Parts: sequence; structure tokens; C-alpha cells
Amino acid sequence: MNVYDSEQIAKGLEFLQYEMTPFLEKADLIIVNTCAIREKAEQKVFSFLGRLAGLKKKRPDLIIGVGGCVAQQEGAKILERVPHLDLVFGTHAINRLPNAIQAILTKKCRIVDTQMSDQIKEMDFSANGYDTKEVSRFVTIMQGCDNYCTYCVVPYVRGRETSRDPEKIISEIRRLVQSGVREVTLLGQNVNSYGMKEGLLTFPELLRHINDIDGLLRIRFTTSHPKDLSQDLIHSFKDLDKLCHHIHLPIQSGSNRILKRMNRKYTREIYLEKVDKLRNTCSDIAITSDIIVGFPGEKRTDFQETLDLIRTVEFDGLFAFKYSDRPNASAARFSDKIPEDEKKKRLQQVLDLQEQFTTRKNKTLTGSTQSVLVEGFSKKQNQINKPNSSQNAQWTGRTSTNKIVNFYNSDDLKAGNENMMGRLVNIKILQAFSHSLWGKTNGKEPGCFGLRGEKSYVA
Ligand code: SAM
Ligand code: SF4
Repeated sequence: MNVYDSEQIAKGLEFLQYEMTPFLEKADLIIVNTCAIREKAEQKVFSFLGRLAGLKKKRPDLIIGVGGCVAQQEGAKILERVPHLDLVFGTHAINRLPNAIQAILTKKCRIVDTQMSDQIKEMDFSANGYDTKEVSRFVTIMQGCDNYCTYCVVPYVRGRETSRDPEKIISEIRRLVQSGVREVTLLGQNVNSYGMKEGLLTFPELLRHINDIDGLLRIRFTTSHPKDLSQDLIHSFKDLDKLCHHIHLPIQSGSNRILKRMNRKYTREIYLEKVDKLRNTCSDIAITSDIIVGFPGEKRTDFQETLDLIRTVEFDGLFAFKYSDRPNASAARFSDKIPEDEKKKRLQQVLDLQEQFTTRKNKTLTGSTQSVLVEGFSKKQNQINKPNSSQNAQWTGRTSTNKIVNFYNSDDLKAGNENMMGRLVNIKILQAFSHSLWGKTNGKEPGCFGLRGEKSYVA
């Protein structure tokens, strides 16, 4: 979500003739877009801001602004704490940012804008074309959250759940596709409840419209709250040819007692039932999840239930976090906090256990042919040099199940290096590592080029 917001910020600033620079020391304006989800993310913000003091001293005309969730949470307090800061703008103030910068330039003032609103203010500049070299882009479809999980800061810093108008979303995706984008990831804290409050389309209906966009090859979305995962959405994985076979379905804990204290509104049994339904509907679907270890009151037995759930589901991947108190979130006031070293141990146990499943799942793909959307040169190729059209290059992309595939463009592929980006190609998997796969082109395009062909998992 912050990546998408940063892109919106950059687009808004183009109106003031700003352009991006990779060199911090050369920038006339530095915007730090922040995350408040865990304590560590927030600490990073302040240490980075501290490091900017020297730059501001050297160049007093430099404008430094802080946006995002930490800005929303802390407001004017950040100006007090960071004397070299010019601007604090909250999560609902992105559309007002160009005006704020203009005011700072003309009046040499300091500004705080953390006003929130119940409606999404579409940015005027979203009507402009896109100039992107990327194959895959994020598109926010809703903002905020109404779920109030007891550990979470999001409802306080992103506001009430509000869905974007489907027409705006669809026309944004059409413009992205015109500029070369082939895959979109739809973003929301709980995409399953898209449009419900406003009486718009349901999320599966929105997916069907997006699936009809010519030129788009793949659709992904995140995040899906298990309590609201509907039968209709589960069926979309079977019915919609562009919907990738991957779902991120955060469980957070395997213990019903802890899930209740987290206010998640589902049980481990309900979660496991939904996993079964997903797998029965779409046999190769990859399922990933989030886990919080050391939530207040999490006993060893609760934690064992989490490990047991991980073994039962065999996730394709996991994001695991140590619980940290967040301002306003009610769990911050819970007693029986877990000591830091115990949280650390539990985190390591989760990561070690999951590593076995991730590696094992990747290994089963060795020898198979996967349809991969090519995103660009592999990291290694970028480090060596850019190949000319007669050389075979190393590329990177993802399977429908969201696994990273680095591959070698072997001789037998007719198309040259120039037009690999944004194409779906069949890759023969030669080797599996814990977090990526390695393969080579096997000379054939997927059967229907981005349509049904993606389901061909031919060994
Ligand atoms: N809306 C998504 C959902 O409900 O599944 C999650 C969004 S949150 C931005 C991403 C992840 O951060 C959560 O799934 C949770 O695992 C983790 N998280 C949130 N608050 C946390 C906290 N106080 N301490 C540790 N991890 C936290
Ligand atoms: Fe946070 Fe829960 Fe909302 Fe996700 S659903 S953003 S975890 S409050």
C-alpha cells in the first residue's frame, strides 16, 4: 500500500516539476513515506530522519516531509522531535500534498496536515497517462479498516474502511495496461468486504470486470480476511482465467483462545475448512499467511497450536512477526506480556518450521514446466551487464502461484531478448532453492497466451 501511495505522491509532485533522483544528496525535496504497523518500522523512521539533519544543514532550502501512518499517528509531535522537518502529512492528505509543498516554497512555513475524511478523494492527476517500465503494478481498491483486531494500528492511522468507485479502478487498470502493465495486484486491508458498505459491486464481481480487460494477463489481490472469504470468491479461482492461483490468508495464531483475544472472529476450525474449500476448488493454489508470535497471554500450549496448524496446512510461505504494542490498539493495554527473548525464540521456531515446507514445495516443481510472467533481467544479470540482443540473458518472473523463477533464455526461444518483458513464457524448472526456482525456456509459449494456458502444470 505504501508503494502505491508513494507512486501517487510522485505523480502529484510532477505537477510542480519535480522528478525522481536516485541521489539523496542531490534532492531538493525528500519525502519519507512511513509505516507504523510494528514498533521496529516506526523506529526506523526516526533514525532515518535523524540522518537527514546533516543534509538540511548543508542545504537549508532542502524540503523534508514525512507522510504515511507514522505521520498520521504522531502529527505535530514529529515537528517537535525533528527540528529540521518542514512537513507532516497524514494518510488522507496525499491529494493535498502539492499545495502544501507550494505553500512551503512560497511562505517558508512548516505544515502539519493530518485531517481525515470518510470519502476517498480521488486525485485529479489520476486521469493522466502512466509512463511505466514495470510489468506488474499495485492498485489500491479500498482504504482503511473497520475490523479492529486488538493488536493493530491500521484503523487508527488509515481510518474507516472505504471502497473506491469500481469505474475509477477499472479505468486506472486500463490506463496501466495501455502503458505496458500486464499484472495488477489489488490492494485493501480486507478485499473481501470491498463495496459492501457503499453498496457497490462485490469483490468477486469487481474481479470479473477486471478479468475482462484486454491485454491484462494476470490479477492478484491482497489481503483477504479469513472471516469474510466467501464461496463466490473461492469459485473465482476456478472461473477467472487471469486470477493467479495464490491467496494470502493471514491466520495470525493457531489457538482459538488467542484468536478470540485478537478479535479475529474466526476459529482455527473455520480457517482449516476454508483452506480445504480453496484446495478442493483449485488444486494447485498456493496459500501464504501471517503469524504473530508472543501476543499478550500466548502460553506455550497456544504457541504449540500455532506450530501444529502450520504443519497441518503446509503453507507455501509465511510472514511471521514478533508482537509489538501499538498506540491506541487495545492489546497494548493487555497484561501478561511475553518477554522479548521468548518472542524471539518462538519466531525462530516458526521460521525454521516453515522453511522446511517452503523448500519441500519448491522441490516438487523440479522437472515441471511453469508459465512465468517475465518481469525483467534477473538480479545476477543486472549485476553483470545488460546483454545485447544476440546474447542469452538471465531473466526473472513469477509463476501464477507467486514463486520467483530465475531463468536462462535458451537458444530455442524464437523471440529475442528485447521482447521478453511482460510475456508469459513456459519455463522448464531445473533446480529449486528455498525461496526461488531456476530454469530455462523450453521454446513453447503457453497454449492460449495468458488465458487458459496458465493452468498447464506439465511435468
Ligand atoms: N489486513 C490484514 C489482515 O487482517 O490480515 C493485515 C494487515 S497488517 C498491515 C500486516 C500484518 O502485520 C498482519 O497480518 C499481522 O500479522 C502483522 N501485525 C499487525 N500488527 C502487529 C503488531 N502489533 N505486532 C506484530 N505484528 C503485527
Ligand atoms: Fe489490522 Fe485486523 Fe484491519 Fe487487518 S483486519 S488491517 S489486522 S485491524
